Amino acid sequence: MLVRYVVAFLLGLLWSVLVVDASLGDADPHYRSCVTQCQENGCVGQKCFPNCKFSSDGVLIDRPWYMQDSLYIQWKKWDCQSDCRYYCMLEREKEKELHSLGPVKYHGKWPFKRIYGMQEPGSVAFSALNLAMHFHGWISFFILLYYKLPLKYGKKPYYEYSGLWHIYALLSLNSWFWSAVFHSRDVDLTEKLDYSSAVVLLGYSLILAILRGFNVKDEATRVMVSAPLIAFVVTHVMYINFYTLDYGWNMMVCVIMGVIQLVIWAVWAGVSCHPSRWKVWLVVFSGGLAMLLEIYDFPPYQGLLDAHALWHATTIPLTYIWWSFVRDDAEFRTSNLVKKAK
Ligand SMILES: [Zn+2]
Repeated sequence: MLVRYVVAFLLGLLWSVLVVDASLGDADPHYRSCVTQCQENGCVGQKCFPNCKFSSDGVLIDRPWYMQDSLYIQWKKWDCQSDCRYYCMLEREKEKELHSLGPVKYHGKWPFKRIYGMQEPGSVAFSALNLAMHFHGWISFFILLYYKLPLKYGKKPYYEYSGLWHIYALLSLNSWFWSAVFHSRDVDLTEKLDYSSAVVLLGYSLILAILRGFNVKDEATRVMVSAPLIAFVVTHVMYINFYTLDYGWNMMVCVIMGVIQLVIWAVWAGVSCHPSRWKVWLVVFSGGLAMLLEIYDFPPYQGLLDAHALWHATTIPLTYIWWSFVRDDAEFRTSNLVKKAK
């Protein structure tokens, strides 16, 4: 039964990825001619963009000597294209609204309103809040471990998984930072950094789920379990960065790694007598439900809040509960170990 649900879930997610790739908006001839015209004369209607000042051979007009760098021209060209696409999209959406037609996607993304130059302000804000929540969780875990709970000889914590959670915190902070950057400016580099950080975090949390779920405490066994997974994640990151960023394949890798760790945690919570296992269940269940938002993708409300942004919003309270479970686990394990030592 469970297997059937998992397969349906994977297919649904894959389908959503395939749909995202084909955008109606940028196939629209009105939109296309607007962008081509804008890139030639640098204006959409009354609005003109200084970054679109190129001469016929693509060299900037009136450039000072220090701006002759080709990178600089590339950046200008990118900015010109981005401005043209954005304002043409707004024009088209305004026209369509008059004919009471709903929004469509452009280049794989819904028409968002920019705020302070941020492309998807909702997702940026929620990514930043996720980052803050992980930071809060990590700091409180740190304080509990080193200042509230008893320490072993050499000021080391009793909790056997403390080092693993510290690495988890660092990778989470890194991943949410790049998510915020990517949602504010979607270029090749920011996209790759965001995708790679997310894959690394997912791969690592899978290792963590296995080590904690199966109570792996022995150093040699830990290395043996994580080595093949680390090798796989490294290969995958190299593949999406230096070969091709295949969205479907990448999503499949992420979903499989995500589903396996959810299953491990759910089963672990079911069979263990951990006092805080309800927190694990809550996170696994709500996390699974929240993933539906990625499948039932809807256009942004007021040009700001779309399904993806809401998905990032739901992980904020889940992150709080998750770190609270980690603190409980540290307390539970420490009290058990101290009792044994006496
Ligand atoms: Zn995102």
